[in-house]
Amino acid sequence: IIQVEHLEKKYGDTEVLKEIDGTVKSGQVICVIGPSGAGKSTFLRCLNLLERPTSGQVLFEGTDLVSLKESAVMNLRERMGMVFQNFNLFPNMTVLENLKLAPVRVKHLSDGEAVKKAQELLDRVGLGEKADAYPASLSGGQQQRVAIARALAMDPEVMLFDEPTSALDPEMVGEVLQVMQELANEGMTMVVVTHEMGFAKEVADEVWFMADGYIQERNEPNAFFADPQTQRAQDFISKII
Ligand code: ATP
Ligand code: MG
Repeated sequence: IIQVEHLEKKYGDTEVLKEIDGTVKSGQVICVIGPSGAGKSTFLRCLNLLERPTSGQVLFEGTDLVSLKESAVMNLRERMGMVFQNFNLFPNMTVLENLKLAPVRVKHLSDGEAVKKAQELLDRVGLGEKADAYPASLSGGQQQRVAIARALAMDPEVMLFDEPTSALDPEMVGEVLQVMQELANEGMTMVVVTHEMGFAKEVADEVWFMADGYIQERNEPNAFFADPQTQRAQDFISKII
């Protein structure tokens, strides 16, 4: 569903991504892990062109996003949901309004349809009772579940997650990971930048280990964690476990 070829990203003279290749197949869960500054967020943002690659291709269902005009990129971006570390909910809107906004504006759903869909999604993430709450009145874990529901309201074909649990208190990490795991079980295609190695082991089809702007290693999770091939990956794993 996504194919990345020779992706490079520079900020001035700094090469953040160097010659990245990779394929995400429909229904796959890819966990991207690696040290701070490796380029993980930049890579994720290049997949939906929130960041414009310096060179290379990002094919989404065969269409090269890099060569498209911004208006066409917008259309394709709607088909990829994104969830950030800091939730990014609209603070002046209720939970329901947050979920309705894009489907009504972009997909032209009627108000009734959008409400129905929002309510279904809130039930699905265990927040059916919170439709009329404002984000500030929710816990971090609840806000992140709302953010996931909001992304799902656009019926994305792929979900991109950038450290969705890193800003959460430890007791709230589990509830968000559980929603993500359910999503994976239902067959959603997901690319997840995460420091949650348990989640990567349990849920990922492939782990991509990034360091210094390269994907140094990619493997099925059990093999990756049991027997990392590169020194960088060995060092990384020995530090986090
Ligand atoms: P972390 O685990 O800390 O989130 P990361 O792997 O997500 O790290 P990136 O945020 O992708 O890393 O950043 C990779 C490198 O690119 C870093 O050295 C960072 O300083 C640099 N970088 C990122 N965004 C910009 C920018 N807009 N301008 C200049 N340099 C940037
Ligand atoms: Mg990052």
